[in-house]
Parts: sequence; C-alpha cells; structure tokens
Amino acid sequence: MQHTSILPPDQRIPVGISACLMGQEVRYNGGHKRSRYCLQVLSECFDFRPFCPELAVGLGVPREPIRLVGDPEAPRARGTENPELDVTEALAEKGRQVASRMPDLCGYILIKGSPSCGMERVKIYHENGIPNAAGRGIFAAELMKTNPLLPVEEEGRLHDAVLRENFITRVFALHRWKREVEAEPSYHALIQYHSRSKYLLMAHSYQGYRELGRFLAQAHDLPLEEAMTTYISGFMSHMSRRAKRRNHVNVLMHVLGYLKKSIDGDCKRELLEVIERYRRAEVNLVVPLTLLQHYLNRFGSDYIRSQSYLDPHPYQLGLRNDI
Ligand code: SF4
Repeated sequence: MQHTSILPPDQRIPVGISACLMGQEVRYNGGHKRSRYCLQVLSECFDFRPFCPELAVGLGVPREPIRLVGDPEAPRARGTENPELDVTEALAEKGRQVASRMPDLCGYILIKGSPSCGMERVKIYHENGIPNAAGRGIFAAELMKTNPLLPVEEEGRLHDAVLRENFITRVFALHRWKREVEAEPSYHALIQYHSRSKYLLMAHSYQGYRELGRFLAQAHDLPLEEAMTTYISGFMSHMSRRAKRRNHVNVLMHVLGYLKKSIDGDCKRELLEVIERYRRAEVNLVVPLTLLQHYLNRFGSDYIRSQSYLDPHPYQLGLRNDI
C-alpha cells in the first residue's frame, strides 16, 4: 500500500535544523548525528532547512574541534588545540543572518552540547582547560536573540513527550499566525486569531490568556503593527510554558460546558468520568479529547469547533497519545 505523507510537500512548515541532524557529514570528525525522528516523522510536516554554522564560517571537514572558553557571560568559541582560532564573531553573525534572512522559519531544532548549536548547558571552559560553567552555543544564542519568537528545541529533548508536544504545538501556532494574521494584517485577523487560540493559550497559561485578552480590548488604540508585535511576543512567550495536566483538565471542563444543553445526563457523566480518569493519569489526553470531539462534531457551535486547541497539529503525529 502506498504511504500517504502527513502534509503534502507544498504545505510543510519551514523549520531550521542543525545540518548534522539531517545525516549530513559535517561534524568536526566527518560524522553526523542523524535523527530518525526528524528525518522519518517530522519531515512529513516540516520543510527542513539544514544549516551548519561551523561549515558556513569556513571551518572545513574534518576540522579542529572548537569549544567555549572564558567569561560565562560572554564566552568565546576557540580551537581546542589552537586557541588563536577564534570564530565567535563569525558564528554570531551567522546566527543573526539566519534569523533575519529566513523570516519564514516557524521553528528551529538544534543539538545538545555543541559550542555553536547547543541551546543550553553547553560546557564553558576556564582558560586552564577545566569546564566551570554552562551556557548556550554562539550561533544558537544569536539566533534566539535576533528572533525571540522562534520556537527552538534540542533534538534530544524531543524524546520527552511533553516537550515534544509543546515544541510542535508552538511551531504550528506560529505558522497559523503567519498565515492568518501576518499574510493579511488587520485588527479583525488579530482578534480572530486570539479567539480561535483561546483554549490553546489557556492550557499553557491561564494568566497569559487573561493578559492578552485585556491587551486586545484596547489594541485598537495602537498602530496595527505595534499591536501585532506586542501580541505575538506575549503569545509565543506564554505558549512556551508547559501545559500541565491540571490545565488541560480545566480546558476540557470549559469545552464540556459548550455541550451541557445538547447532551443527556448519561453522556455528560461519561465525559466527566473520562476527564477524571485523565486527571488521575490513568489515560492520556487523546482519550477525553476523542470523546469530546465526537459530541462537538454533532452538537458543538462553530465557535467551539474552530478552537485550535482541538487540533493544534496533525493527529497522525500522535502527540496527544503520550501526554
Ligand atoms: S556546527 Fe551545528 S550543524 Fe554543524 S556539525 Fe556542529 S552541531 Fe552539527
């Protein structure tokens, strides 16, 4: 039987990735760090843009490895054998270039421990050669500073079900923003986006949902561009918080509220029971959501059925089967 991909190639979302994760042999020793999950699963949804900053700054393959040294607040990327080799500025410039020249990116997948591509806890060595601090790779730091909206994650952390779901949710949310608001900016599009994202945002941060709602109530007084920039910065920042089980329970109860008048007592008890089983961690999120969806399809209003919380990413990824 022919395999159908999750999203057709022309609908895949542009996402940057460290080139070695795609199997490219660009590491200092001529090796790669091929990620099966990225190559075999996520590549069906993401249009990956591989990039190796060390190669891009002119370091060859194979090459002398570099490491972070010096001041933990402003480390340098230097050669491990030849400390005269200093590629700090060049790597930082590549981070700025990728962020500003690829504005269509909706996410970035990096790699653990790299002095260029590491997102966190990269060893920083004292001049005497002993690691004494931890920080961020030079390329990764500039990329994230220049484009703070960009959802960024390390490939290793995608093996954690909650982090994986959170990252992919944010990539799809930013993509929706670009498609629904940035493509044709208007106050109406902005309000619509918030309205459709209500329960998704609430699952990640109730406070964020309230703050952004208050902000939008007065957003008409601001120039449109300023209103959009402020909104999406706040939105992506709140979305980066983990959606806890109890937040999902809260959202599920809200969604159930939309069905109260349409379903009978038995159906309601069944839904409450399954939400309770989810709260007790006896089943995963997909279970109450599937049942709710069943009733929403029959009785839900357009408003509740349009909520991005109900399908924030393609179901084929199975992300809610594991959380
Ligand atoms: S610089 Fe980044 S992309 Fe290049 S080999 Fe190192 S970790 Fe991989």
